[in-house]
Amino acid sequence: MDNLMADAIERCTSDSSSSNMEVRQNEEDSKGGKKQRDVKYCSGLQQTDLKPCGPIGKHQLTVFKTPNSKEPPTGPLEAFADVLSQLAPIFNLELEKFHIFWQHDDDELMGFNRTNAIYLNLAHFEKKHYAKLLGSDHGKAEVYIAWYFIIAHEIAHNIAFFHDEDHELLLTWIAQNRLTHLMNLLSAE
Ligand SMILES: [Zn+2]
Repeated sequence: MDNLMADAIERCTSDSSSSNMEVRQNEEDSKGGKKQRDVKYCSGLQQTDLKPCGPIGKHQLTVFKTPNSKEPPTGPLEAFADVLSQLAPIFNLELEKFHIFWQHDDDELMGFNRTNAIYLNLAHFEKKHYAKLLGSDHGKAEVYIAWYFIIAHEIAHNIAFFHDEDHELLLTWIAQNRLTHLMNLLSAE
């Protein structure tokens, strides 16, 4: 499991967003399978037309948005990038390995993994977490914990494409293995 986890983390890539065809192919293939596919938590299906904009903000990140979305809101974007910049080292990743996208018409969607590039939805953060960050310590901790698990979930997809037992096992292993680092981060906040 340790090797699998290291492999999953190592496979995280920065997206050149030129791999749309490949994703569609994967989705087509997966339709025939009997394995469980969760469509809401994370999905690679509709996010094939993201446009990069930026670099934006103090972290100088490229942010992706769907064609119908307006510009991403600056305050939430900076706050989200701050959260991610603190979570990235927990997984031994650079912030650039996380791709922030802004899909305001689907704030239930947390993220997806497109050919080993991890995408995280700023709209979900803005709706569910932005206000909490400004509130109590408990609220802040909830936000970090939520994104910790979302990121671990997406990293596990680097090895396990489907939402099946393999994915669940690897996700659990990654989350378990990095948890003390998260706790250190939370107690330092
Ligand atoms: Zn997933």
